[in-house]
Amino acid sequence: MSIVKKFISFVLCAILCTIMCSAVFATSTPIITISNKSDVPSNSVKIDISIANNPGIMGMTFSIMYDSENLEFVDLSRGYISAPTYNNLSDEGRIIVAVTEKEDKYDNGTLMSLIFKIKDNAKPGKYAITLANHKYEKYADSLHNCFSNSNQESIVPTVKAGSVTVEKTCENSGHKYSVWSVTKKASCTETGQKERTCARCGDIEKQEIPITHDFEAEWTVDKAATPSEDGIMSRHCKNCDAVTDKITFTYQEVEDSKDPDDNTSSDNNISSDASSNGSNSSSSVSSSDVSSSENNSSNESNSSNKTPIDNTVGAKNPLSAVENTKDFQENIKPNFENNNTSSNTENSAEQSGNSDNFDTQSITTTTDGDKDTTTDKAQPFISTSMGMAIIIICALLSIGMVVFCIILIIRRKKAEQD
Ligand SMILES: [Zn+2]
Ligand SMILES: [Zn+2]
Repeated sequence: MSIVKKFISFVLCAILCTIMCSAVFATSTPIITISNKSDVPSNSVKIDISIANNPGIMGMTFSIMYDSENLEFVDLSRGYISAPTYNNLSDEGRIIVAVTEKEDKYDNGTLMSLIFKIKDNAKPGKYAITLANHKYEKYADSLHNCFSNSNQESIVPTVKAGSVTVEKTCENSGHKYSVWSVTKKASCTETGQKERTCARCGDIEKQEIPITHDFEAEWTVDKAATPSEDGIMSRHCKNCDAVTDKITFTYQEVEDSKDPDDNTSSDNNISSDASSNGSNSSSSVSSSDVSSSENNSSNESNSSNKTPIDNTVGAKNPLSAVENTKDFQENIKPNFENNNTSSNTENSAEQSGNSDNFDTQSITTTTDGDKDTTTDKAQPFISTSMGMAIIIICALLSIGMVVFCIILIIRRKKAEQD
């Protein structure tokens, strides 16, 4: 019987020890779980940090590590614990959290919740969210001395890391493309190519650049004007036979420009340009079918200011149209576009084929026109600044003279006194 009693007592002791050991183990190792969420860029996700097996914790100081390249920390809200103080170091992807209770808290459940916004340019993938020591550099991932109870005992929890999964969303919300970059320039004979890349999924979109001519800023006479027929001029491509901006001019204009009085004004191109750029719209581009009625009325008064027309085929200075490209663009272009379609097959085909290309040309032309205007205006500016410089030099010289005279007088007086 004594053997049976001994055996029973031994079994009871063993059971008791097991229960006590498991109780001690259970109280000393809390489990902290961080939730897993997945969503698409621009959206926010809420990540919960919860505790189980809580042995009683009074103070906690630790770091929450996250991927700051793809996630943006928005807010931290407390669970059952007192309001934590926290500091987000977005450069490091680290939030340092500190909580101090008045006594040990034994609750299980949500300690705190984090709100992250998934960045617009976030790449698809799974980004871990985990806990680390608040003295991160020194202790790395060890959570030693991060959690403690009222007896100043350190409690090291087991952490189940969480994550935010960024889902690929271009299929639903469209790609987030960069700006176009030209990979092959277009020429007169060959189309070019440009491409752009999606920042989110890396998709590359390619597009063809239509054939592009490099047109001269100056007009060229294609057909000389005669008393019975108007002349034609256009801007030629520097690299091929293509032409654009085809307009006509009358024989009368050629005659007007040959007026002997004009010789003076031809020497004085800059001033005449400036005046015609100002209030008068370009009267000289008054080709029979494109000129406006306003231009006709001011034609006579303005004719003496014109650059002479070189009415020979291939000449480069027809009319003052070139000087007034801007007026031409604004007033006459819409009319002449139709004209162009019928007279220039190569060009019209290209224009009807691609309106973008035509826009680029007109923009280039306008810019050229602007440039011309600025250079014209720059001339008087240079002379003004030179005049200013001369005046300043004169003033400095006269001041120097006065000072020199004063010094001379003082010296003489001193000599007299001696
Ligand atoms: Zn994409
Ligand atoms: Zn060309």
